[in-house]
Amino acid sequence: MNDHCPVKQNIDILLEAEAAQTVLDPEPRRHMTGLLHLLEEIAAGRAAMGHLDALAAMADRLAAARETAAAALGRKFLNTLAGEREVFQSHIESRNCPTGECDLLAPAPCQMACPAGIDVACYVSLIGQGRYAEAVDVIRLDNPFPWVCGLICVHPCETECLRQRLDTPIAIRDLKAFAARQAMSAGLWRLAQVPAPANGQRVAVIGAGPAGLSAAYHLALNGYAVTVFEKLPMAGGMMAVGIPPYRLPRELLTAEVELIQSLGVEIRTEVAFGRDVTLERLRADGYGAFFVATGLHLSGRLNVPGEDLSGVLKGVDFLREVSLGRSVSLGRRVIVIGGGNVAIDVARSALRAGAGTVSLVCLEKREEMPAWEDEIKEALEEGVGLTNCFGPSRFIEENGRVAGLEFKHCTSVFDEDRRFNPCYDECVLNLMKADNIIVAIGQAGDVEFARTEGMALTSRHGLAANAVTYQTPVTDVFAGGDAVYGPRSVIEAIGAGKAAARSIHCYLQGLPLPRMAALPVRRMQTEVFEMSAMRKMELRRPRLPAADPILRRRTFERLETELSPAQARDEARRCLRCDICKRCGQCASVCREKMGLDALPFNNFDSPDPPAGDFRVTTDNCVLCGACTENCPTGAIRIETHNGECRLSFCGTVLCRDQMEYCRECGAELGATRYLDHVHHRMQGIDPLQPRRLLCADCIRKDLEDRYLAIPAGRRSPVIHLDD
Ligand SMILES: Cc1cc2nc3c(=O)[nH]c(=O)nc-3n(C[C@H](O)[C@H](O)[C@H](O)COP(=O)(O)OP(=O)(O)OC[C@H]3O[C@@H](n4cnc5c(N)ncnc54)[C@H](O)[C@@H]3O)c2cc1C
Ligand code: SF4
Ligand code: SF4
Repeated sequence: MNDHCPVKQNIDILLEAEAAQTVLDPEPRRHMTGLLHLLEEIAAGRAAMGHLDALAAMADRLAAARETAAAALGRKFLNTLAGEREVFQSHIESRNCPTGECDLLAPAPCQMACPAGIDVACYVSLIGQGRYAEAVDVIRLDNPFPWVCGLICVHPCETECLRQRLDTPIAIRDLKAFAARQAMSAGLWRLAQVPAPANGQRVAVIGAGPAGLSAAYHLALNGYAVTVFEKLPMAGGMMAVGIPPYRLPRELLTAEVELIQSLGVEIRTEVAFGRDVTLERLRADGYGAFFVATGLHLSGRLNVPGEDLSGVLKGVDFLREVSLGRSVSLGRRVIVIGGGNVAIDVARSALRAGAGTVSLVCLEKREEMPAWEDEIKEALEEGVGLTNCFGPSRFIEENGRVAGLEFKHCTSVFDEDRRFNPCYDECVLNLMKADNIIVAIGQAGDVEFARTEGMALTSRHGLAANAVTYQTPVTDVFAGGDAVYGPRSVIEAIGAGKAAARSIHCYLQGLPLPRMAALPVRRMQTEVFEMSAMRKMELRRPRLPAADPILRRRTFERLETELSPAQARDEARRCLRCDICKRCGQCASVCREKMGLDALPFNNFDSPDPPAGDFRVTTDNCVLCGACTENCPTGAIRIETHNGECRLSFCGTVLCRDQMEYCRECGAELGATRYLDHVHHRMQGIDPLQPRRLLCADCIRKDLEDRYLAIPAGRRSPVIHLDD
């Protein structure tokens, strides 16, 4: 796969060839110029599908040229066009450059960052307009779990959100949860698309986690009959048996799974792949392709003496048992080993499951712990004890079961290359008594079926599959999710399922498999909100009050509050609409370099160390000349006159406004007062006696003409002073 944009690359190649005069014959040079013109239109989002045929025809002629250099260029381009056609199409059809190299077509950073490619800017703006169900529809085009993700997504979109260049990122995740709840309350819990007619082909999905269910959803929407085989008694994977219910209420998950089932997806629970069903049997039953997404449901081992004693539990097993409602009786004192998010979930669940005290012990220093800071903080608030820089050396036995643990001091966790390579000081020991010890130090996949089903494994015991197509070496079998790439997140699994569904569709239709990762698609062009620069800057990310930790630690119910409609509307309106403004900086450079004003704070947003931006700077410094709007390629920045007022707005945010002035003779618009003042000020630099005039150019000409004609013919001179 090519990581660079072939449109941009070919523009560069042609420009270079032109500059170096590589081709000399006039005929092929004309074809090169034609190619360049077409490519530039594609890169600017001004092309139609006919451009592809025109490109191919032009390149054919170039390839047929007698001059060797021209023919080589033509052939090379034809090869690129054949191999990367879908990238060219994406530029034209969805005005998207998936690599972001064609500046004007780069998706918004939040959409680029989302592994499922959700059009964040679009649904955020729909929420701002109160169109909640439509916002959820937009999410569902890429992700069948809007509500789940609204509560537990790791939100890479917020990490990339450009609003943090002004203050704090948009609360995208909270907005998603808000919209999902509103859609549900309004009775608008629905599919976003009408599924394609059934095509008679069957696909088997192994594992009903987010990866498997996302693949099933996208395949069913595409007309396939999908059966999901799930080992456990319930669907959802780690969303159902890993993430604790106090973070993800199960009824929400059920509502989302039921919507997938409403597409005709059949979920057969308590059926284990490799044991109850095999590839051979499923092929014989008419399944044409398979998607294996079995996750990581085994716990990592410490390999420390005494680990198999009674009373020592495994983190992932413990969470599963709790989620399945099976009784897990814990003693008074519980130790949890591990410093990651799973360990925190285990510790907080142990408190809720009845443990008297829970102590978390990990190798890392507090600041090195891989768990999210918020999760650590909440665990501490609930009363979980934390001991850093200790690793287990042996489990202590009393009467045939565990009674405690001896720890050794960990002096460092990572080596110079940041690889996990803990070092210990064996002289510093720590002994802790416990009735139960839960080991939560990592996950592994139960991939025993790989051997019997002939599936390849990687050196790290993951299922081997192509990183783009998710195809395994067994060509009708695709694999994705945690089982392939290791422990990650729900949204990455959803993205993997969506991408695998696309590959399976190509495979079953006899089409070439995709050569590059799924493209983020712009779903809709939504309206902008009008508000003042002052208001835009004053809006603050809402803080949701956390529930009382004393209440929290007693229940598996989710107690956290959600955004109110007013908070959601204001938060959505804080968005900078990076789907419209492409941060090319042309407006800012015109303002700075041509007008000498530097009134636009959008420059350098994409640089690693941008200056703090503030829209209010424009209110103070802009003269309403409109030069920026002439140069904005996307219409993000506009100047408009309305009811005697001139306004400059950026994606709806009114940056500057002033009254208009009109020609005192004919009433034609002259410009905003501050613009005329600016011009007058500049003119004074040339001619200090110039008065500030309120006449349009036509009326000035006419005035001069009249005055000229009023002078008797013999006394006329070619120069007339205006203020004469
Ligand atoms: C405790 C915990 C908390 C987490 N918290 C978060 C969080 O807050 N946010 C976040 O984004 N991510 C979180 N994650 C990670 C996230 O849950 C996973 O990355 C995601 O669920 C992986 O999806 P998947 O579909 O690949 O696998 P899974 O969700 O693991 O689903 C795999 C499914 O396959 C089934 N299966 C396995 N073997 C077989 C077989 N032989 N036959 C049939 N079925 C089989 C399993 O039973 C399971 O249902 C958490 C993970 C854990 C363990
Ligand atoms: S400001 Fe809006 S469009 Fe820009 S990255 Fe943030 S959420 Fe996306
Ligand atoms: S507003 Fe400025 S930075 Fe944004 S697209 Fe227009 S010219 Fe480029």
